[in-house]
Amino acid sequence: DLAGSLVTVAVEGRGPRGLPRSSGLSDDFFIHDGQITKRPVRALALAALAPRPGERLWDIGAGSGSISVEWALCGGTATAIEAREDRAENIRKNAAAFGLTHRITVVTGKAPEALTAVDVPDAVFIGGGLDSAMFDPIWSRLAPGARLVAHSVTLETEALLGELHQLHGGELMRAEIAHAAPLGRYRSWEAARPVVQWSVVR
Ligand code: SAH
Repeated sequence: DLAGSLVTVAVEGRGPRGLPRSSGLSDDFFIHDGQITKRPVRALALAALAPRPGERLWDIGAGSGSISVEWALCGGTATAIEAREDRAENIRKNAAAFGLTHRITVVTGKAPEALTAVDVPDAVFIGGGLDSAMFDPIWSRLAPGARLVAHSVTLETEALLGELHQLHGGELMRAEIAHAAPLGRYRSWEAARPVVQWSVVR
């Protein structure tokens, strides 16, 4: 379809110098419905996830799959778990546009149930749907040394991350990002929702 081919053109259209090597690619590289971890916050997610070649990621609440794509571009493999079938379809299209279908497996379903048959990962990103009922079964499956990174924009998940940080340690961070935008003849800062990130090693 049109959106898919536009993304393919955008990805291939980088010319002989190829894609940028850093994480935090433009949101325009991905097919999405607005539910996407935006570029600066995605870069923070990837920095905390610290991908290495050959490592396996669980991308929980994968949305557009942008986290899985940027992980796989670093040489790892990802399982993208997404509850909504329309978004799972976007993930498949994005993986294809980047030539990463061999590195990204899409699971349509709800975590944690949808994870029971999936191999244990080196790192987990939780970008959606985190509550204590989800956290406990995921945490108990992780091997010592596995990394977990969770993002929250709601007060409820933020409260949970505060508790989990007290219990398990790690790093709790809040990012408040604003973009300059027109305000009449002037410009002003337009604030995005604050994002809380918890990263921890099992
Ligand atoms: N990181 C994504 C955006 C995530 S938006 C990106 O960059 O595109 C959060 C997503 O989590 C939504 O698509 C929602 O459908 C999904 N979600 C919420 N709860 C879930 C659950 N329990 N299992 C799987 N997906 C879930």
